[in-house]
Amino acid sequence: EIGVEGLLVQTIYDSNNSSSTTTTKLTKLPPPEIGVEGLVGNTPMILVKSLSEITGNNVYAKLEYMNPGGSSKDRVALAILQEKIQSGELQPHEPKSKIYEGTSGSTGISIATIANSLGIKSEIHLPDDTSPDKLILFNTLGAGLVKVKPASIVDPNQYVNSAKAASVATEGVFADQFENETNWKIHYTTTGPEIYQQLNGQVDFFIAGCGTGGTISGVSKYLKEKIGDSFTSILADPQGSGFYNRVKFGVMYTNEEKEGSRRRHQVDTIIEGIGLNRITKNFSAGEEYIDDSVKVYDEEAIKMAKFLCVQDGLFVGSSSCVNSVALLKLCRDNPQIKGKNFVLAYCDSGSRHLNKFWKEALNVHDDVTVEEILNNK
Ligand code: PMP
Repeated sequence: EIGVEGLLVQTIYDSNNSSSTTTTKLTKLPPPEIGVEGLVGNTPMILVKSLSEITGNNVYAKLEYMNPGGSSKDRVALAILQEKIQSGELQPHEPKSKIYEGTSGSTGISIATIANSLGIKSEIHLPDDTSPDKLILFNTLGAGLVKVKPASIVDPNQYVNSAKAASVATEGVFADQFENETNWKIHYTTTGPEIYQQLNGQVDFFIAGCGTGGTISGVSKYLKEKIGDSFTSILADPQGSGFYNRVKFGVMYTNEEKEGSRRRHQVDTIIEGIGLNRITKNFSAGEEYIDDSVKVYDEEAIKMAKFLCVQDGLFVGSSSCVNSVALLKLCRDNPQIKGKNFVLAYCDSGSRHLNKFWKEALNVHDDVTVEEILNNK
């Protein structure tokens, strides 16, 4: 029942004593010999009061941006790095030992952050239209950066293919977030159980977007196995992405969208980090546990950004807004859904989107209403 003000006291609640904002004690503090990587996971959950009131449900946000690298991707980066260090493929403090990844955002920042903390060098390949806010972060973190022309996944110079090729050429390690199943598994063993425990098992709905599919697959599989059919998983899909059609009708591609075609963020949508026109191993792993999908448009997400900031003091990134709009649409179209516990993935904060998504959101007036957000779509 606590909103963002609860985070002023501490970042991690003692779940046995969650009713108090002031007397709860910090739990699971990392022992002093652990660096930044010790802060990954165990993210707080808060009540989004405005959305709860409007929908007549309890709407909780899992604040993944409270991870030290600023997003849920820290979990994946840490899991992959630990695995590769344990197998001997990566050696800390060995200058030639390097991890490579192709990413337009969060994963690269998480890999660079956690790799630095573990003494591993990183090289990130990204499209040259990546948002300026993220480029500044990459430069600050000292990750090797290779910018490539935006291209489809079938092009050998596309950023994922280019990172993979560089890892092969240098006998380095390729993280491979889209196809490496360590990704969904870490959400299955950490994010899912955390959500379950934070709500004492009373989870009715989980809403998330799909970038690699790691989050929605891992969390949905865990909660479905634990709770059963009374739990519902909803995939929130931005415009230009094929997952909505896949979940609703079993087909990934519309007639206009060619298989494997690049979903150009700046052309098709302003939303970053979610939406794709191909099926990844991390999506396949959990597809059977996803019950439904809601399509969300840029315009709606942009208005939602301002709404959450003004109403709840929540300054969040574009995918968090997409999940919040999906909640409103689901509840509008299913008015019988009342008194349920919803969990929304809030993957990153608005500060990563200042020069793109938030540039638009700043133009939305402060009193924007739910009716204006949905605009009959
Ligand atoms: N939100 C943002 C901002 C992201 O960067 C990502 C990952 N690309 C996601 C959501 C989706 O996470 P996943 O890759 O686990 O599907």
